[in-house]
Amino acid sequence: MKILCILYDDPTNGMPKNYPLSELPKIEKYPDGMTLPSPKNKDFKPGELLGCVSGELGLRRFLEDAGHSLVVTSDKDGADCEADRELVDADIVISQPFFPYYLTRERIKSAPRLKMAITAGIGSDHVDLDAAIEHKIDVVEVTYCNSRSVAEHIVMMILSLVRDYHHQHYIVNSGGWNIADAVSRSYDVEGMHIGTVAAGRIGLDTLRKLKPFDVHLHYFDRHRLSPDIEKELNLTFHNTVESMLKVCDVITINCPLHPETENLFDDKMIAKMKNGAYIVNTARGKICNKDAIANALESGKLAGYAGDVWFPQPAPNDHIWRHMPNHGMTPHTSGTSLSAQARYAAGVREILECFFEGQPIRDEYLIVQDGALAGMGAHSYSKGSTTSGSEEAARFQK
Ligand code: NAD
Repeated sequence: MKILCILYDDPTNGMPKNYPLSELPKIEKYPDGMTLPSPKNKDFKPGELLGCVSGELGLRRFLEDAGHSLVVTSDKDGADCEADRELVDADIVISQPFFPYYLTRERIKSAPRLKMAITAGIGSDHVDLDAAIEHKIDVVEVTYCNSRSVAEHIVMMILSLVRDYHHQHYIVNSGGWNIADAVSRSYDVEGMHIGTVAAGRIGLDTLRKLKPFDVHLHYFDRHRLSPDIEKELNLTFHNTVESMLKVCDVITINCPLHPETENLFDDKMIAKMKNGAYIVNTARGKICNKDAIANALESGKLAGYAGDVWFPQPAPNDHIWRHMPNHGMTPHTSGTSLSAQARYAAGVREILECFFEGQPIRDEYLIVQDGALAGMGAHSYSKGSTTSGSEEAARFQK
């Protein structure tokens, strides 16, 4: 079989010769008891860079020894890109949300042999799920592999926005010492009301991680958490996003991108928020309207916005979020720490082993199977496509 793998570019100065840590901490299980990815074998050292082209997710030896062919590229956007040329006879395509190969309806139509799209990470909105359902292409992801990595990033971003870390760091780097400047937008999070849109794996872990800061915790989700968890974290559940926005100083967005959540935070929704609230969005860029966010930062309606997700990705060089005031954006990195890469590379290998051996793929990994939403897809997504406009990614200039 032919496996096409789209990964982000190597480091500018080549692959690292060594890494800050010689080994990763051992993690036995995820908090709900789910086991970590468990392939029969691994051909990589956890802690090394695996998500870029030369890292190859540690898959080459495994695939070639079994007689398959592996094509790895980062050339994924624009007319006649390498990924499009290789897709036409590919059986499996692997892509990462950080550097997504948007599997649009046109691309799916161009690939008659395609059987499975694997997301090396979590979030399969870069695949036109409607088209995948119609063409009976299974869509799978490595559920939980980086949920806790993202939750750490969210806590970091909430603290850095509210305390205004970026500005203070900038003052030091530029040789200054004006403390009044440095603190004129700086607050404590203690006592604030913080709410999450969705309390799945990331949302719930974020709530747990925030609890020790002595904040008031709120959530909205289509699935209500158990009374035990609500009690443990002293959570306030809201039936609507609007009811939560009205009372929260900080909102963190943790739902998948699907037709119900696309453009959820537009001008109208932001107008319902408290004045001077903060948003941290590490879910997907398209959940927030890009101009509405930039305008709300300009006017002061929002005191800050941070996150690591954009639309499209890579974000064009002139994307307004690169230049708006009081933002704390990173490129899409929260789920691709070296720690997370080891888990999702192992998860992709587990999925491939199951596929080649005709064994069932874990239910938790399924988004679409046999022409229908399945597993986590049925729990967390709605049918439809959110890939329109993705061709804009070709405007990014290295
Ligand atoms: P999850 O499936 O455990 O949780 C998703 C939650 O969203 C579920 O509880 C579901 O009920 C809820 N939900 C879905 N639609 C909703 C709606 N319309 N309104 C309210 N709640 C809704 O997934 P997770 O591991 O928590 O990941 C969530 C999302 O975060 C992913 O789909 C992905 O888009 C994003 N993510 C980003 C990164 C990153 O690197 N920035 C990494 C992993 C995941």
